[in-house]
Amino acid sequence: MSDTKVLGCLGSGQLGRMVAIAAKKLGATVHFFSPEAGSPGEQITGLATVAAYDDFGALSQFASQVSAVVCEFENVPSQALELLASRVRVFPAPRVLHICQHRLREKTFLSESGFPVVPFATVDDLAGLRRAVNSIGFPSVLKTAGFGYDGKGQRKLGPADDLASALSNTPPPCVLEQFLDFQLELSVIVARDTTGDIRTWGPIENVHRNHILDTSICPARISAETARAATDLAMRVARHIDVVGLLCVEMFLERNGTIRVNELAPRPHNSGHLTIEASRTSQFEQLARIALGMPMGPTEMTSPSVMLNLLGDLWQNTSPDWSVVDTKKNCHLHLYGKAIPKPGRKMGHLTAIAPTVDEAYTQASTLRKNIFG
Ligand code: ADP
Ligand code: MG
Repeated sequence: MSDTKVLGCLGSGQLGRMVAIAAKKLGATVHFFSPEAGSPGEQITGLATVAAYDDFGALSQFASQVSAVVCEFENVPSQALELLASRVRVFPAPRVLHICQHRLREKTFLSESGFPVVPFATVDDLAGLRRAVNSIGFPSVLKTAGFGYDGKGQRKLGPADDLASALSNTPPPCVLEQFLDFQLELSVIVARDTTGDIRTWGPIENVHRNHILDTSICPARISAETARAATDLAMRVARHIDVVGLLCVEMFLERNGTIRVNELAPRPHNSGHLTIEASRTSQFEQLARIALGMPMGPTEMTSPSVMLNLLGDLWQNTSPDWSVVDTKKNCHLHLYGKAIPKPGRKMGHLTAIAPTVDEAYTQASTLRKNIFG
């Protein structure tokens, strides 16, 4: 019988796929659980249970096939994770996932714990939205509390907007947040293992387009003092929520230097893709190490780097010319094995490493332009 360790992964997209690639490097493999057959994750290991997240029979069998479970996304029903956690160690714990999968619970947790967040109000109905608008003002952003990602379930509101129609497109419960005219967005990914050892990467600077991450830059173009403050804030949040596994803390840096937490993701994060080439241990390898009970690896950055997402939109008017990809330029191409390039779908990414982030940005953006014409 093989003694290869098998990690379970809830979700089987690109994040799980990159965990699987890292786990294989450590002599382990990943068994995926998701409703999609032939997924980006399954393509790497050939091990998958294709079932709904509330199929408790399938979950129970899955628990008997794996030594621990990691999650690649937050929208797993709490009961599914509870069931798995009663059988094997789960990263993150169900309690952490329960907070992070719901914007209201997450923001309430953060603000009640004294962490700086964007001013917000709870919205349950139209009268509640009117009250929220009175206290928060315009411009503001209305966000559905559950199941949002990549800006889905969000709507920017100004004085000319019809509140009833905004609410019909953003089903309650919601949060209404002040729209911040921030200087830039940052993320700090924290890794914490079962012994309480804690490591961070970054901080990473993030640029979004249409609410979807487009560019990540590391090191972020901020002062050493701001970098320390962002890292310290992320570590305090990770310790306070008592996460074991990964926690990405997304933040806004205001023009006056104030840092506010935007949201938390207790899993590998898109902004951390550049840790594959630019750090001694990637976020994916770190999660695999934690779940396998191995000591964490060093997280120093080995080079400035820039990551650009490749969204399905790029495929709409052209077929990509991969012949221009030249690895000698230190640009690394990752494709996720997704068959249909829909607009907004994350199909792959490019990471460039170079002596400065400006050079890395130039190399990655030139390559992206050349591939897609
Ligand atoms: P998601 O779960 O979709 O990532 P976020 O709340 O992180 O949701 O929103 C996505 C992006 O939309 C943010 O990274 C930011 O660029 C923009 N955004 C969200 N909330 C605000 C806000 N209050 N003020 C300004 N921009 C915002
Ligand atoms: Mg976000």
